Formats: sequence, C-alpha cells, structure tokens
Amino acid sequence: MPYTAIVGLQWGDEGKGKVIDYLAKDYDAVVRFQGGANAGHTVYVNGKKFSFHILPSGLLREEVVGIIGPGVVVDPESFKSEAESLRSQIGDLEGRLFVDPRAHLVMPYHKMEDELFESHSEKPIGTTKKGIGPANRDKYARLGIRLGDILRPSYLREHINRAYDFNRRIVESYGKNFPEKDQILDFLMEFAEYVRPFVADTVLLLEDLEKSGARILLEGAQGTYLDVNFGTYPFVTSSHTISGGAAISGIAPWKIRRVVGVFKAYTTRVGEGPFPTEERSEIGERLKEEGSEFGTTTGRARRCGWLDIPLIRYASIINGVTDLFMTKVDVLEKIGIYRAAVEYEVFEERTGFPPAYSEDWYHIKPVYKDYRSWEDMINEIEKTLEIDVRFVSTGREREEVIERKGG
Ligand code: GDP
Repeated sequence: MPYTAIVGLQWGDEGKGKVIDYLAKDYDAVVRFQGGANAGHTVYVNGKKFSFHILPSGLLREEVVGIIGPGVVVDPESFKSEAESLRSQIGDLEGRLFVDPRAHLVMPYHKMEDELFESHSEKPIGTTKKGIGPANRDKYARLGIRLGDILRPSYLREHINRAYDFNRRIVESYGKNFPEKDQILDFLMEFAEYVRPFVADTVLLLEDLEKSGARILLEGAQGTYLDVNFGTYPFVTSSHTISGGAAISGIAPWKIRRVVGVFKAYTTRVGEGPFPTEERSEIGERLKEEGSEFGTTTGRARRCGWLDIPLIRYASIINGVTDLFMTKVDVLEKIGIYRAAVEYEVFEERTGFPPAYSEDWYHIKPVYKDYRSWEDMINEIEKTLEIDVRFVSTGREREEVIERKGG
C-alpha cells in the first residue's frame, strides 16, 4: 500500500499539520498535491513552533523526502522565505525537497488581483489574498506560467505576453499600476536561480520511490468543504482538496489505499460562507480562545461551533475515508460540553447529510445531542460513519496522540 492520503473533513484547520508530522514517522516521503501558500499547517516539536504554508509538513522528520506536486501553485516569495527559514532550523533541504516543473507560479499580479477582487466585492469570499484563486484561474484559462518555464528563459519570453496583457488589463481596470514586463522577468529569473536545485520530474521521482518500497503520504491542505466541487460554493478554495485530488500528482487512484480523515472535536471555519453548527455565543468565544483558533496564514479569528456529524459523514463518503483522526479533544474537555449535530432539519425535513444545493445550506437547522464524554461522542461517530476513529489528538505536541484499535 504505497500511498496514504490525509484530508480534512471540515473547513480546514483540522490539525492536519500535526497529523502529518505524527504519521510521517512511518513514511518515507510526503507530497503536497493542491493549493499553495494559502495553507497553514502548524507543528510543535518539543515546544518549538514550525509553520508550513507551501512546503510539506513531513520535512521535520529527517528521513522524509518532501515533494511539491504539479497540482500545487507555487508562490516564489513564500517558497523562498519558507525554505530559508526551515533551512536555518533543520539544515540543508537540497536532495530532500523537490518541486515539479509543471507546478504553476503565483505571480505578483495574482496577489494584487486577489486583493482587488476581495476588497471591491459586494460578497467577498474571505480568501487569504495570497493570489491562489487568480493563479488557478490563469492555469485553466491557459494563461499560466509554470515553474519549468522560468528555467527556460527564451521560452518564457515568448510565452509571457498573453498572460501579461490579460492581467495588466484586469489590474489597470481598477485604476492601479501594473509592473513593467522586465521587472516581472527579473523577479522570475532571480527565483529560477534559487529554485533550480529543487526542480525535478516528480512523476519519475515517485516511481523510483515506489519501486524502492517507499511509503508515501499525500498531504491535503484546506478541507472537504473548501473543495471547489464539493465545498460550500462559492465560499471555497480554487482546487480539489479531496482524496481524489491527490491523483493529479500523477499517481494512479488505485494506489491510494488508505485515506485518513482528520476532523476536530468541534467545528471551525475561517472566512465567509455557511456554517450550520456555528455557535455565536460566549461558548463560541471560549472555543476560539481555548483552541487558539486564529489562522496560521492570516492571523484571522476562526468562527467556532459544535461538531457536525452529517458534515463529516458525507465528507467520509466523498474521500473514501478508511481511518478517522480526531483532534483537539483537550479543547472540548476544557469547555466541558460534549455536543454534536447528529442530523439536520432542512425545509422541515430530517436528513443525515448536508445538501447538494447552495441555497439549502442557509436553511439547515442542526439537531443536537449531548454526550457525557468525548469517548461517547466517538461511539456515535463510529456507529454513524462505520469507520474507526483510530487516533485521537489530545494536545498540540507530537507525542500527544492516543492510538486506538491498533493505530
Ligand atoms: P491544519 O491546517 O489542518 O494543519 O491546521 P492548523 O495547523 O492550521 O491548525 C491546527 C492548530 O491546532 C495548530 O496550531 C496545531 O498546533 C493545533 N493542534 C493540533 N492538534 C491539536 C490538539 O489535539 N490539541 C490542541 N490544543 N491543539 C492542536
């Protein structure tokens, strides 16, 4: 079973960074397959904090190789600053970190556009303003610049014009100045020199790793309800966050035999969009404070509420979850209330699943149940989802994990 995918079953921030770091002890490589520097994974090892945005979280384990697949969008500034900061903490990354030349670049103008769209929109999405959406838009509009292009300067010069003209029109339509082409090219050439030692055809790299018997983790960022298809559209991210999305790294879907679904013992969401079990009360505030629910990437406060079993049940179907990993039970313990939505009432009908219609999300009335302990909650989850909760995280440190049922 060479591949295990790790995915979030809620709206991201489920603690996947810690989960990946924890599971990486039994793996040889970790692959980021989607998203970009809008992800924020935090890992604590011996009280020391490490933040990951674009680099795979598994790199903290010395033996682990980190791979950024072709489905990721790479922000040159984030890549460089994160690689430099990690290098100063754990040593050289050459030979341990690889990025595929087919990965698209987040250009400086994508960040400008993200900021402009969000600040001029009547209904902002609540993006991280890291330019991920515009970069993916250009990818699908066949206007993207790929990492491999900047290592082939004459090809780049020939191909940048369409992207440059299109994006310049957008930015100028907001009355803003657009950078000169040479300025952009200089920026890209400088990054090319930095990134060159890390660039490799990751399909062949993975093939070699597979042949040598390596075990490989596929690191999902964000969560199922931020997936561009299955999330609460349009309040979603611009990539596929589900286990199926991992296959776009050039991995045959049938090789992904294990899917670890990560969820918090309660629910949070950052940014706008529907959130049926949101608790807009003193208790919601306490969940936020006790759980330190502030974004790793933006510092924004996360909205907090109760565990939502229909939500994680449906996500488990989409992702084909084989093992569940529940995090942050210590936070719930501090609050002392063990509550979960077990069903929804939508337009006066009972259902055990979230709706497929955008509008219906705004008409969900959760049906709650209280439990004596988080163990009782786990029993309900296992009974409903018919999947074992094999791991429970009880704190932010690497060691604070309870392995249940063989782990
Ligand atoms: P990700 O995007 O899914 O990786 O989640 P983040 O890293 O943004 O957020 C999870 C936060 O919760 C991080 O600060 C983790 O250190 C922390 N965390 C993870 N697991 C636990 C846990 O079981 N208990 C507590 N208190 N914190 C945790």
